[in-house]
Amino acid sequence: MTTRHDALDRVSNLFRRQFGNAPQSRAYAPGRVEVIGNHTDYNGGTVVGAAVEQGISLAARLRDDGVIRLYSDVQSSDGVIETTWEAYAEADLAEWTRYPLGVIDEARLRAWSSEPFGLELAISSTLPVGIGLSSSAALEMAVAGALANLLFAPEAQPSRGLLVESAHRAENRFVGMPCGLLDQSVVGFARENGLVVLDAAINRSMSLPLPSNVRFVLFRSHISHALVDSPYEKRHRECRDALLGLERFMPGIRHLARLHPADLDAYASVLETRLALRARHVVHEQRRVGAFLSAINSGDLAAAGACLTASHDSSRAFFDNSTPELDALVAAANAQPGVLGARLSGGGWGGSVVAMVTEEFEEKQAELICDSYEQLFEIRPHWWQTSAAAGMISESV
Ligand code: ADP
Ligand code: MG
Repeated sequence: MTTRHDALDRVSNLFRRQFGNAPQSRAYAPGRVEVIGNHTDYNGGTVVGAAVEQGISLAARLRDDGVIRLYSDVQSSDGVIETTWEAYAEADLAEWTRYPLGVIDEARLRAWSSEPFGLELAISSTLPVGIGLSSSAALEMAVAGALANLLFAPEAQPSRGLLVESAHRAENRFVGMPCGLLDQSVVGFARENGLVVLDAAINRSMSLPLPSNVRFVLFRSHISHALVDSPYEKRHRECRDALLGLERFMPGIRHLARLHPADLDAYASVLETRLALRARHVVHEQRRVGAFLSAINSGDLAAAGACLTASHDSSRAFFDNSTPELDALVAAANAQPGVLGARLSGGGWGGSVVAMVTEEFEEKQAELICDSYEQLFEIRPHWWQTSAAAGMISESV
């Protein structure tokens, strides 16, 4: 297995090849997997994630002429993309450059540097793009870490929280993707063999140790979010309407995820059936996140895994955000030894399934799960496995 150290060496070499000199700073940022907390984030609830072993490495060097040059090995056909401090915000460049340029723009707005700067960035990645491992947040956090290193003295480095916030704002504002804070929080705060627990009502996170024999296996269904007309916005509206409906009877409630199940039982009949089901999913999912965290705390891995599978069942039955493909992957995974539980990961309607496993789970088991999926859908899913990895690191060289 390649280590982060190897990955950083490789990106230094890539940097030298592309730009003809040595980098001054390097960063490595992992992707992340959403472990549990389905549609809880915009309902003021809790979401749990872990960093994965795969990630993005980045090497950087300041230029004093205001020229900005970007190269990514997964976009190698674009070659080196060039712009300037004056022009980048309006320049018509490849879409992927919005992510690094967004972080540069945040640094500019936050006056990380008293004067204009130019930059060379080389990016190298082992992270599959667009499958819910959050390559976008990894890229933003790697840029934020390297930039902080270049622009601040070692004793004056900005806090992790500030880097996370800058990366998140870059994605919201410069890329134009209104995502929650989970992705950047996990990439920023993850510890090896640890979970990151984000309270989305206040955007604060904490980390929780995970036994080192626990691993995550991700199976990618062949249904991508882009191919289905994602009802994400619709669910968002339904949750808001459910909250508004309940608020008439419980004045002052602000977040669906903070309701007690007994309150929901008392008043759910005022909601139309569909809204009552959506509310039920969110309220109980928040409870499941709590039960999952307690189970991890007390070392009861079987109970923790059962929360993942219960989360999936609730998605399917009450939130209507699963698909036959995801259901099949969850069922096939749960039939294998070493699988503690499995659920759809991310918004749903396609995308990936995450299984939480112990050392009993071997490659052979993953292949069997893929076999049974292939029999049903005549296409073989991709899969990855990972331990819970550490978050972003950056260093001067
Ligand atoms: P996810 O974050 O789930 O992987 P997103 O759609 O949020 O999916 O982000 C993917 C986008 O991030 C890519 O389309 C690309 O623009 C950018 N990106 C991710 N990794 C890289 C990389 N190594 N080099 C260049 N751009 C990247
Ligand atoms: Mg993303």
